[in-house]
Amino acid sequence: MEKESTKIHQILSMKGGLGDESYAKNSKPQRAILSSSVPVLEQAVLDFCDTRLPHCITIADLGCSSGPNTLFAVTRITSLIHERFSQLGQAPPEFSIFLNDLPGNDFNAVFQTFLPAFKEKKWAENGSYISGVPGSFYGRLFPSNSLHFVHSGTSLHWLSQVPPELNDKSNPLINKGKIYISKTSPAAAIAAYQIQFQKDFFSFLMARSKEVVPGGRMVFTLNARRIADPTAEESCLTWDYLGQALQDLVLKGLMEEEKLDTYNVPYYEPYVEEIKTEIAKEGSFTLNCLEIIALPWDACNGGMKCDRATTAKNWVRVLKAINEPMVRSHFGAEVLDPFFQSLTGNHRS
Ligand code: SAH
Repeated sequence: MEKESTKIHQILSMKGGLGDESYAKNSKPQRAILSSSVPVLEQAVLDFCDTRLPHCITIADLGCSSGPNTLFAVTRITSLIHERFSQLGQAPPEFSIFLNDLPGNDFNAVFQTFLPAFKEKKWAENGSYISGVPGSFYGRLFPSNSLHFVHSGTSLHWLSQVPPELNDKSNPLINKGKIYISKTSPAAAIAAYQIQFQKDFFSFLMARSKEVVPGGRMVFTLNARRIADPTAEESCLTWDYLGQALQDLVLKGLMEEEKLDTYNVPYYEPYVEEIKTEIAKEGSFTLNCLEIIALPWDACNGGMKCDRATTAKNWVRVLKAINEPMVRSHFGAEVLDPFFQSLTGNHRS
């Protein structure tokens, strides 16, 4: 296994299980993004169906996590292809489906809890073969020319590592009081994040370029920015809140300042142009469609009408399901309760 994936999987994973605080129960914003991307996904599947279709179609979902979203895209893709085969009067296709995530992902919950509902679909009960593929999508995961369709939902904003300049044990670049790019971040820290994204996204494309068959398709969503400025609030505000909540713990004497100074997230929201640049630089894929989805402020409520306080609480639960494993690994389990309490306070103010 590659060194970078060993490092990242020790710190990054969504909160597993099925409990109230799990990712499975707190991934409604990601679900909203998946739902909004359906028209693009379906168009890509239909375009793919216009090519010469093999009988066995290989599909990979990268960064599948564990929850009701895990099989969302795979369900749409397989049902559409199945329908297309039947319109063409062909025998039903077979599907080889690969669910990928980092090794710390709760694959048990995927296979025990979320897979059975998929297998009940009429086109999936016979002829779909599903495997879990633990590993980093920044490296090779599949043999050459073996994938027909690749999907990745809200995962590619996670970097393969915290930019090394910020994580250098002997001489770290300090991003004072912050845990991601912010207005006060040194220019060198911002550049380090940008360079890490460029390297990672390029590696992602290069690995997939070897794995995807000619004529194959890839659809992905990721958190990104409409504004060139990397310190723009639309991509930094949430991390500022999280940083502020950690600073509160330092002020209350519950945490060493040095611990906060050495904590930065392996995350980057690229400007749309940065995405296009890497695709052009890597050169193996043609960009057919790029759409911007703006999430409503209450996407955490899953379509329910809630007051502001409940909405703030729901967002904190979403942030907790994402951040808890990373915070626990860096600061220790004892800071979790005060941290998330402080965060709820900040959001309400
Ligand atoms: N696709 C799901 C999950 C999104 S959360 C959904 O739409 O709800 C992002 C997921 O990407 C997490 O489960 C995380 O573990 C995974 N991830 C992050 N970096 C990864 C990497 N380098 N390789 C594989 N999975 C990764």
